[in-house]
Amino acid sequence: MLIVMKFGGTSVGSAAALENVISIVAKARQEGHAVGVVVSAMSGVTNLLLDSARQAEAGHEKIAQQARLEIAKKHAETTLHFLGNSPERQAVLAEINGLLDEFEALCHGIRVLGELTPRALDVIGGLGERMSVPQVTAILNQAGVAATGVAATELIVTDHRFGAAVPLIEETAEKSQATLRPLLAAGQVPVVTGFIGATKEGIQTTLGRGGSDYSATIIGRAIEADEVWIWTDVNGVMTADPRVVPQAHPISQLSYAEISELSFFGAKVLHSQAIRPARRVGLPVRILNTFEPEHPGTLITAKGNNGGRAVKAVTAIKEMSLVTVEGSGMIGIPGVAGRTFTAVARTDTNVLMISQASSEQSICFVVPSTDVARVVAALEDELIREIERRDLERVRWEQDTVILAVVGDGMKGTPGISGRLFGVLGREKINVIAIAQGSSEHNISLVVAQGDADRAVQQIHAEFALELPS
Ligand code: ADP
Ligand code: ASP
Ligand code: MG
Repeated sequence: MLIVMKFGGTSVGSAAALENVISIVAKARQEGHAVGVVVSAMSGVTNLLLDSARQAEAGHEKIAQQARLEIAKKHAETTLHFLGNSPERQAVLAEINGLLDEFEALCHGIRVLGELTPRALDVIGGLGERMSVPQVTAILNQAGVAATGVAATELIVTDHRFGAAVPLIEETAEKSQATLRPLLAAGQVPVVTGFIGATKEGIQTTLGRGGSDYSATIIGRAIEADEVWIWTDVNGVMTADPRVVPQAHPISQLSYAEISELSFFGAKVLHSQAIRPARRVGLPVRILNTFEPEHPGTLITAKGNNGGRAVKAVTAIKEMSLVTVEGSGMIGIPGVAGRTFTAVARTDTNVLMISQASSEQSICFVVPSTDVARVVAALEDELIREIERRDLERVRWEQDTVILAVVGDGMKGTPGISGRLFGVLGREKINVIAIAQGSSEHNISLVVAQGDADRAVQQIHAEFALELPS
């Protein structure tokens, strides 16, 4: 089999974790599999880099110097553990040092200019993966697994949306095959930077926070891998965020439809877009635990397997705002909905949920709170005449809301699910602000106040007995 394995931040974040990475990759190679590896930055590094850049914009350069020391120390310690004081270690540290020089120079420039562009933020954000690759490559080679570092900027071609770039499929397939196939054929393990790509012109982009998952499925699809294995720090996708519901447990199988709802609505274990390349070509994806490699984890395929369960998981996405356009004139004005969403689209904002009552007197939708001010301004601009004529009221919005998503393919055609869902929330006196259910019935989404979110997730988890193994 050809397997693309992605190792996340904690999986490459310490010497102990990297010991497991070596044995996982070595075992797959011994079993005769061809393996491509995608790595994240060591845990905490991306945050340090991005915070430093933002602080530099605000005039504080010291933070970057501290971050540099901290990041250098992390890599110095892990390389020492595996490579001792060898020339190989010196070569890795020299490369990392060069990247840290770049980092400091960039932060200095940002402080002087007082401006941080999305393009610069992507260059800085991607440095952690670029430091991780030489480290992991050297460690694998030292352990007898022949490995070669590869920059994803040479493989993944994206559009120009800095901070959330979208891959261009054909260009990426061409470049990835040309670079990776010969390495794989020669028995090498390519070790690729997660998170980053580059435009056709070669300008570096990133795929959004947590984007190394996406890198793995993009590359898996591009080189026609047999499977993609996402190695992380939990035993697969769980019935809820384990930090919110301690009784949550891993789900053995999910369908593409189910995981795309869960990851879209906040299950951090997989990047929200990561399943798309796999789904397009029916590529199986496994979520596995680097710290418990024998655990079967979660297998994601077209079918999933609900084991008789209607509801399989509940998730929450926080820091959302609910925007409402309302007014008696809504019924009479043709195209208000179209104009509303066109205006929102111009702000390049992601709308996560839409709900309209059948009276057509209001439309409400949910956007990330970081974007709500721009969205409201764009709407007021677009609808100014209707607002002045009082056909529409002012655009209202409510911050500090959360979307909960209750997910399971088996909900389709199972009566009574929403009754139980709203029953339990009513009993717990949790106010439901808005509701949406797609006609596909894989998912019921609802909006509650941020303060109620964790309790709501816990109560829904208990109501559907998700703590019982399926
Ligand atoms: P990595 O660095 O390996 O990409 P992440 O921190 O991005 O790891 O994602 C794994 C984390 O996602 C877990 O440690 C867990 O805390 C969190 N998480 C949130 N929701 C879920 C869920 N439904 N199932 C599993 N993990 C979840
Ligand atoms: N290092 C990046 C992040 O922290 C990408 C990833 O870990 O997937 O967002
Ligand atoms: Mg992640």
